[in-house]
Amino acid sequence: MNMMNKDEALVVFSGGQDSSTCLFWAKREFRKVHALTFRYGQKHSLEVEMAGKLAEKAEVDFHLMDTPFIGQLGANSLTDASIVMDQEKPEDSFPNTFVPGRNLFFLSIAAVVAREHGINHIVTGVSQTDFSGYPDCRDSFIKSLNVTLNLAMDEQFIIHTPLMWIDKAGTWALADELGVLDIIRNETLTCYNGIPGDGCGHCPACRLRRAGLEKYLASKA
Ligand code: ZN
Repeated sequence: MNMMNKDEALVVFSGGQDSSTCLFWAKREFRKVHALTFRYGQKHSLEVEMAGKLAEKAEVDFHLMDTPFIGQLGANSLTDASIVMDQEKPEDSFPNTFVPGRNLFFLSIAAVVAREHGINHIVTGVSQTDFSGYPDCRDSFIKSLNVTLNLAMDEQFIIHTPLMWIDKAGTWALADELGVLDIIRNETLTCYNGIPGDGCGHCPACRLRRAGLEKYLASKA
């Protein structure tokens, strides 16, 4: 494309703690922000609903993309109700919350959507620090995909990963710095059992989120 909107960014946005923090980070860094949410057969439709509400509250453009094929690929406990979710990461493999290729598909689609809007900045909340063993959350993957997307579309995309090197406590600290700690705490959904805010308290996502919050609040006290 000829004209890039260099002060706009597209955030890959699930409505969870990480991508919501990234949404507000992007609002600080860019004049205009777009949120892109994927509906891929999540067990909890509330996730998409909450993402839409939070995007509205944050006053960003909300784009919803239906990608049911992602939920149909492979067997994983996030989309298949018959699979009981791993509570711990197995020693020698990925937890069954792993959706193979998910970030590959999300970011590739995000780049196409960004291009349609003349945007070259893409933001994703992946983190290598707390990465639960998902290979497509690693910095090497993101950098590799960034090069590939640029070659694929002859564009100059820049993928931003504000959370790449910080842990969950650092993510809470960033939310606080951005003035949205309460919003992130109460109006996002991270829980694998679909309970907003502080969640069910016992699934792996809730435990990671709470441990990070306790560590951050203790460091502040
Ligand atoms: Zn939970």
